[in-house]
Amino acid sequence: MSTFGKLPPWLKRPAGSGNTFNHTREILNELGQQTICTNANCPNLGQCWSRGTATVLILGNICTRNCKFCSVGKGKPLPPDPDEPNRVAQMAKRMNIKYLVITSVDRDDLPDGGASHFAAVVNAAREAVAGIRFELLVPDFKGCQDAALDKLECALPFVFGHNVETVPSLYPKARTGGNYQLSLELLRKAKNRWPDVPTKSSLMLGLGETDELVIEVLNDLRNVGCDRVTLGQYLRPSKDSLEVLEYVKPEKFDWWAEKAKEIGFNWVMSSPFTRSSYFAEVESTD
Ligand code: SF4
Repeated sequence: MSTFGKLPPWLKRPAGSGNTFNHTREILNELGQQTICTNANCPNLGQCWSRGTATVLILGNICTRNCKFCSVGKGKPLPPDPDEPNRVAQMAKRMNIKYLVITSVDRDDLPDGGASHFAAVVNAAREAVAGIRFELLVPDFKGCQDAALDKLECALPFVFGHNVETVPSLYPKARTGGNYQLSLELLRKAKNRWPDVPTKSSLMLGLGETDELVIEVLNDLRNVGCDRVTLGQYLRPSKDSLEVLEYVKPEKFDWWAEKAKEIGFNWVMSSPFTRSSYFAEVESTD
């Protein structure tokens, strides 16, 4: 696990090993498919890859934003790779994936923010693997939300995820280029268009947020119809990323799980290692 600084004991994780882990790594390497697992230095990589799952990162690994919590490369991305839908389909087939989480870098350079590429990837994988289900974790589609949702229409059904990441007062520090209201608006629009599609968002804790502000965010998310939420510990993924200001104890994450259910979410995952794609395939968190 790549994290920087001394970790409390509950944040130690074994590295990946075993046949399934090796198989996952081999397939991803052979196909050259990017994952957020590696690009974000996710601490769960060993566990998830050993379970035969991974979250694909489409549209390249260079992001047009510069969020300070994230280690994905920043700069001018390449045009979308027309072979990527087929590559992801091959990956899903060879790994026998039943539930695939797909995310992307921000592509503010594309007129639909990359939404048509998301749809192409979903549809290619659906042709390759019968019965596969999808969760999309999309960017905020700044300036093109309606056009992007139009493009995703042909790829339904899926769980629609977009992460607010942190409380709005920390956006200038953590999510430069992001806009909290715009993120809420995207979740609202998705729910208005597709009332039966579960919507999902995620928060990182440990960046200096207060409990009161987190509760406000949870209420805001419910007010735009968001059904699912995840809460996890922010871990510094690179030496250039923001410092961790607090290691939230596991008991507090349990408290947050109860709180989020009380606020009305019907699917809640909350633990130090929770990430938006962590055990995303489970049907129920009761
Ligand atoms: S939690 Fe998500 S990003 Fe992290 S290793 Fe698992 S699948 Fe990959």
